[in-house]
Amino acid sequence: MVRTCEVALPLPLRTTFTYRVPGALDEQMVAGARVVVPFRNRAMLGVVLGRGDGPDGASLKNVAEILDPVPALSSRLVELGRWISNYYLSPIGETLRAMLPPSVELQFDREWQISEAGRARLQELRSLAAPNEAESADLAVLQVLEARGGVVSDGILRKLRDSSAAVARLLRRNELVVRGAGRHRTARMQKIVAWKVQAVPAPFRPAEQKVHRVLAENAGPLALVSLLKMADVSRAVVQRLAKQGKLLVTEEPLAPEEVRFATDLLPPSNLLNAEQVHVMNAIKAWLQARAFHPALLYGVTGSGKTEVYLHAVEATLALGRTAIILVPEIALTMWISEICRARFGGTVAVLHSGLSERERAREWWRVRRQEVQVVVGTRSAVFAPLEGIGLIVVDEEQESSYKQEEAPRYHGRDVALMRAKLEGAVALLGSATPSLESYQRAREGKYDLLCLRSRVENRPMAAVQIADLREDFRRTHKTAPISQDLREAIARELAAGRQSIVLINRRGYSWFVLCRGCGAAVLCENCSIALTYHKKRERLACHYCGFSRRVPRACPKCNSEHIYFVGAGAEQVEEHLRTLFPQARIARLDRDAVRHKRAFGQVLGAFGAGSIDILVGTQMVAKGHDFHGVTLVGVASADAQLSFPDFRAAERTFQLLTQVAGRAGRGTLPGKVIVESYHPEHYAIQMAASQDYVSFFEKELHFRRLMHYPPFVALASVLVRGAKLEKAIHWSRQIEAFFESQKMPEIKVLGPAAAPLARLKGQYRFHFLLKSTRRAALNQILNKCLACCVEKEIPDRAILIDVDPVNLL
Ligand code: ADP
Ligand code: ZN
Ligand code: ZN
Repeated sequence: MVRTCEVALPLPLRTTFTYRVPGALDEQMVAGARVVVPFRNRAMLGVVLGRGDGPDGASLKNVAEILDPVPALSSRLVELGRWISNYYLSPIGETLRAMLPPSVELQFDREWQISEAGRARLQELRSLAAPNEAESADLAVLQVLEARGGVVSDGILRKLRDSSAAVARLLRRNELVVRGAGRHRTARMQKIVAWKVQAVPAPFRPAEQKVHRVLAENAGPLALVSLLKMADVSRAVVQRLAKQGKLLVTEEPLAPEEVRFATDLLPPSNLLNAEQVHVMNAIKAWLQARAFHPALLYGVTGSGKTEVYLHAVEATLALGRTAIILVPEIALTMWISEICRARFGGTVAVLHSGLSERERAREWWRVRRQEVQVVVGTRSAVFAPLEGIGLIVVDEEQESSYKQEEAPRYHGRDVALMRAKLEGAVALLGSATPSLESYQRAREGKYDLLCLRSRVENRPMAAVQIADLREDFRRTHKTAPISQDLREAIARELAAGRQSIVLINRRGYSWFVLCRGCGAAVLCENCSIALTYHKKRERLACHYCGFSRRVPRACPKCNSEHIYFVGAGAEQVEEHLRTLFPQARIARLDRDAVRHKRAFGQVLGAFGAGSIDILVGTQMVAKGHDFHGVTLVGVASADAQLSFPDFRAAERTFQLLTQVAGRAGRGTLPGKVIVESYHPEHYAIQMAASQDYVSFFEKELHFRRLMHYPPFVALASVLVRGAKLEKAIHWSRQIEAFFESQKMPEIKVLGPAAAPLARLKGQYRFHFLLKSTRRAALNQILNKCLACCVEKEIPDRAILIDVDPVNLL
């Protein structure tokens, strides 16, 4: 018998791999550890799933290395990974990779090795009197190899001139062997500075005095960077003192946590109001029970949900347990984590995709080593390797950004619930506009429902007025980017020195370009989607694949010169406001205007400080922020989202309008909201205007029941895609035949139909929609469907399965 282990590798394959465990590694080999293994001439990083025994003489490759003395993933996280892999039909290796920290300590490289045949060839080449060009090149490569003991790294061969052709030739003749190798990066070093006790303290210049004070009196030995900051001196001062022998300078590997965060933010110490206290009492009781408990916190905008989260975290820590707070956007992590640090100090870690790999790895390992008790982050922070979790908060649980749109296609909120279940923790989903799925579960008693029905300090909800754009046109006979009502309201706020937000949920200058000659819109080359006009860049751009082109002078189809631009986007609304209000301070917040995290913070900071009068932007301006000076919110064309071919169009419109309306009147002055629409009678707009979530829920739920949509069925989409139309059609026919052969009464299959985005990034797309009254049945048929694809030799990348899809385009 030989010792073996089962390893999951980050490949789009639904299998795991068996390796032999060398005796030396036997003891450390535990499930959840990261290992380096050879795979098809490469070295790969995988995760150990389990151990076993194999028959002697089995032709297995050896595990090359174990990376972690403590396994990266705890057994609970491995279990969570298995659940995700099964529920979302995502390959286990890809799933576990999504749960791991970036592997910054490793560097994957290829190594070249000379073979016996190679050595023979080397002798032969050396004896040649007049080698030709190819022979000389081969000789050069083989000589380098021999000189370095038979093995060299990729980099060294690449430095040789004309080596790539020679390497290919030698490889073909088996005179060279390639193999993958994972090498440890050499640790970055840092200088550590200490004061030498025996050094005479005087006489000092003032700068030297400062160094002495910090090193000898306050802090003790310090990293050079920290010393410079704390003593506020230049590098030259330190160098001079070192040269005089007053300092001891050593080097050590960069400590994992080098950055201390500035927390000069004052902790807002709000006393809870009666409603908040009531909610907190329930949460405390559940925390004390130390068992899984899912709950939905439905609280209107400005009702103080954040304060409840913080108190809940505090109560969790008091019980000696740990907590995760998930937020939908990086921008929100920044300010929630600041508040958390101010309250809970250094026990907080932040995890999100905006961090560099190094920063993310550092934070991740701090968490793994149990140095922190609170993690704040976006979607993937649900995998934070905390132990003893007592609470997981999912803020704005309805947000679609919780859904990962690449493999593994998991939903952060639903994984949070599963994780809480595995950990015996409280899962607290919070929202002012809960998703239909969650609210329905709360009503069915599957979650507890907690409510905050009024704003803090009894501030009134903002008054919402709907501006009927048809009426506006009748009155003004003009189509302007914003209505007369909104213009006048902004003017009033400006005159009073107050702030406004204008939401326009379309990027660019014009939505699309139409031809009056043939009626066609100018489309993307790779996608079946109209291009958006960006005025500043003077280009038409595709928001799906990034394709862009110059603005045509004539229609690309019929050559007519009568082309015109339709619909005002954020760029145009901003320009329009600048002409209307030349004296106003205006800023725009969208992905075109603000490309970096820092710029984002700057704009919001300036707005918060009152140095911007009007903030224009896409949904980025709508969510989460707590600006007390905003008294007016305008929504330029609320309809954009209503016409989307998606059964959640009404729900998304309602959520966005309610959220943005919630930004007004959060301070002492009451807020006002103006919503522009061509469909003012639509229930999503009407009920958002009255900020009546429960009525909206009832109405929408009725529609979902009639149409067999979630929460009444479990939904999955199967997308078939291919660069060649015939292939894509052929594959969808095969899958259609499979579904027809399956007789499952609880499942309804719609399709194949061209996806709403029938072509995307050069690929033709067809999709099936599966609705099932039983989740297990859905899982079963999808597994069979995958097996069928393997049997029919439909390539993996052509099939995209999405369970509980959020995006149906
Ligand atoms: P939500 O997330 O529900 O929209 P927030 O948590 O952002 O609301 O709270 C809105 C504002 O009310 C914040 O400025 C917060 O500091 C403040 N606040 C929260 N709780 C209280 C309280 N009990 N008394 C006074 N102000 C509070
Ligand atoms: Zn035309
Ligand atoms: Zn495109």
